[in-house]
Formats: sequence, structure tokens, C-alpha cells
Amino acid sequence: MLKNEKAVVVFSGGQDSTTCLFWAKEQFAEVETVTFDYGQRHKLEIEVAAGIARDLNVPQTVLDMSLLNQLAPNALTRTDIGITQEDGALPSTFVDGRNLLFLSFAAILAKQKGARHLITGVCETDFSGYPDCRDIFIKSLNVTLNLSMDYQFVLHTPLMWLNKAETWRMADELGAFDFVRSRTLTCYNGIQGDGCGECPACKLRRAGLEQYLNERAAYGEGDHTHA
Ligand SMILES: [Zn+2]
Repeated sequence: MLKNEKAVVVFSGGQDSTTCLFWAKEQFAEVETVTFDYGQRHKLEIEVAAGIARDLNVPQTVLDMSLLNQLAPNALTRTDIGITQEDGALPSTFVDGRNLLFLSFAAILAKQKGARHLITGVCETDFSGYPDCRDIFIKSLNVTLNLSMDYQFVLHTPLMWLNKAETWRMADELGAFDFVRSRTLTCYNGIQGDGCGECPACKLRRAGLEQYLNERAAYGEGDHTHA
């Protein structure tokens, strides 16, 4: 049904959004990506995302969101920014409503490109306190976007109810396990793939990976990993 339609994936080059990109490529005839440059701690994040988009042959638009840094001081006092369900390195300065802004800009871009499907890797399962990652927010925003632009957007959140192990399973089922594992950037220290192994993002990612690999071994599903 959706095979003849066009979609835009909110894409950071991390595990979650890269898995979403593979998912979208299966679901839609035409897929593009949008990546937000908000002065990431590691410029490498943008380069990694660009490299993945290029290798998967999907157009990428990088939008300058550096204005977020003007709002950052409000967020610098947060003590809970160490762990998140969002993929990619955390911004050094988390800002309330960041996802609201990103998805709104993504929608404006998508409409210009004739795409009504928007895909985001937000996830409520590992919800760690960001209200604009919740399913109810996404549904609400979907209505608001449609009203604001008189357009029939459909927001897709394929990871919304998956835990980290299940997200690895999805990548595997999409034939993307090795690609996602080796190419994506999650580590706060800017190390691609399995990362530094020490930072909170790496620990979270590795815990999910190990859980998935254990489950896969236990149920005898496939054997193409050498971990
Ligand atoms: Zn790390």
C-alpha cells in the first residue's frame, strides 16, 4: 500500500535511526533523510550520517539547528542527560522540545519534497524522561502538523515499543545487523561501531546487543554473527 509513496527519515547516523532507514527502504518507494546539525559534540556524527546515507543511496538534507545552543543553558543543569533512548551522541546541551522542533522542521521539508510519511526512531520503552518522545506526543503532533499545513502526514515510529534487544532484532530481520553494528555511531566519545565501551551510550547499546545475541543463540535463529 505504501510502496508507491515517499518518506523522509529523521536520521542521525545512530543505531536507532539507521535501523529506521533500513525499515523505511523496505516500506516505501522513495526515501530521503534529514539530519540536524546542532553543534554536536562530535562533528563525526554528521560525517557518519552522510556516509551511511551515501552508501545506502538515499538523499540527505542537513539542516542547521545551531540556534538550539542559544537555549542550552536552561538544560545544562540537568543531571539525567547521561542516558537516553535516542540514538546518536547526546547533544552536549539537551533542550526541552528538541524533538518537537526537529519533527516540525522535518515535516516542512517533507512536504516540500512531496513526502507525507515521516519516520522517527523515538522510543517509549526505554523512556528516560523526554516527554516529546512519547507515543501520545507523536500522535498529537501528527494531528497538529496536518492542521498546520493542511496535509496528510503520517508519522511512523517503528521502534516505539521495542527495547534495545528488539531493535537489534529488527535490524537483523532487515538484513542490516552487521551494517548497523559496524557503521553507526552511538558512543559519546565518538567511536563508531561498538564504541569505547565505557560511556553510558556504549553500555546501553552493548547491553541490548548482548541480550539480543543471547536470545538469538538460545532460539537458534541464524548464525551469521561472530560475536
Ligand atoms: Zn562510548
